[in-house]
Amino acid sequence: MRIADKELVAHTITRRIRRLEVILQQGELIDDDQSTKELQDDESARLDNLNQQPVDDALLNLARLELSELKYNLDRLEKEDAGECEECSSEIPVKRLLAVPTTRKCVNCAVETD
Ligand SMILES: [Zn+2]
Repeated sequence: MRIADKELVAHTITRRIRRLEVILQQGELIDDDQSTKELQDDESARLDNLNQQPVDDALLNLARLELSELKYNLDRLEKEDAGECEECSSEIPVKRLLAVPTTRKCVNCAVETD
């Protein structure tokens, strides 16, 4: 995996992690106005949407799950098998990693097992 690609994927994953952490903060500290004050730019636009509807438990659980998968993949990016399919070890295209940052498999293996 090229370093530029790795950085791009890491950036995408980091952004998603940050967004999910905001959602989780909202859900867990729903009465705490301080939790949203440090956010800026495009993140605050998303927050405005979030503020209009209560964050329910199902969404929070999904967010927690996705967060742990994203952190796992971010961790993997630092290792030698970065961007490799866990099933067949073939290289996962960067486009796929950007579209589905939680994935650990190439398209072929994902279709067979999911
Ligand atoms: Zn595969």
